[in-house]
Amino acid sequence: MDKRERVTVLGLGRMGAALAGALLAAGHPTTVWNRSAAKAGDLVARGAVLARTAAEAVRASEVVVVCVTDYDVAGDLLGPLAGELAGRALINLTSGSPEQARRSADWAAEHGIDYLDGTIMAVPQGIGQPGSVLLLSGSAEVHSGRKALIELWGDGDYLGADAGLSALYDLALLGVMWSTIASFLHGAALLGTEDVTAQQFLPKVERWLGAVASFLPGIAAQADSGDYATDVSGLDINVAGLDLLARVSRAQGIGTDVPAALHELYARRLAQGSANDGLASLIDTIRRG
Ligand code: NAP
Repeated sequence: MDKRERVTVLGLGRMGAALAGALLAAGHPTTVWNRSAAKAGDLVARGAVLARTAAEAVRASEVVVVCVTDYDVAGDLLGPLAGELAGRALINLTSGSPEQARRSADWAAEHGIDYLDGTIMAVPQGIGQPGSVLLLSGSAEVHSGRKALIELWGDGDYLGADAGLSALYDLALLGVMWSTIASFLHGAALLGTEDVTAQQFLPKVERWLGAVASFLPGIAAQADSGDYATDVSGLDINVAGLDLLARVSRAQGIGTDVPAALHELYARRLAQGSANDGLASLIDTIRRG
């Protein structure tokens, strides 16, 4: 695929502007449109063409990227443009639910639009930088044909034809991030009661996260097999540890939201499972809800 393919970007919020900026930096003729045209100023100064309407923007390129607040906004924007989009590649990098992505893909298929859904595992400043990842699902043709273009934004991780998968992976990974950050901050607050700063705590956490990551292959294998027997660390000592963390947190004068939520889950599993079960067995309780 020609490196300098024409590309249209609909939506110039923080993320859309970063995506368009990376295209311009790589020399792609880039047409942009945004509800508030003023946000295009910087991109136009860098060579982008500002379309007067979204329809005009779509007509300018074979590849159309949309990145707006959510799928409701994307749907309202794209719905009236089905005729213009027919026969073009549409890459939707708006975050949402798997169901919304699948509905979008169905709508695109009905209108002859080649549809690739994606989620961006990066902040706008990280676009095009090492570590930026795009989770993609939907049209394999759009993915393979536009690989080089996608790589301008980050590593493209294609997950398959089901357009909903990228949204599901996105949420699963964000969950890991949210729980890790909350646990880091709980630890920082706990140590803060003894005047240890979060930055002093940080290197210990970085080292520990490496060890925790090394536990995951074994936990993943057990989660898949359903054989939870462990000679490493039983649930009982982990439940006791979480109880201790909550009690010490209270004694040090901070909240217990993070350990209390984990304690509730771990203790419920302990009540349901066998004494020999390891941490991987939590997945049964999580599945049951
Ligand atoms: P943002 O800065 O708030 O921009 C929102 C964009 O949506 C703007 O272009 C805005 O247009 C447009 N928009 C909102 N309502 C509209 C409407 N009714 N009609 C037409 N356009 C409308 O958001 P963002 O950070 O760029 O995020 C965009 C998408 O990327 C989201 O789905 C977000 O979850 C995802 N994402 C963001 C990040 C991040 O760190 N920012 C990271 C990963 C994924 P106006 O400029 O006219 O308001």
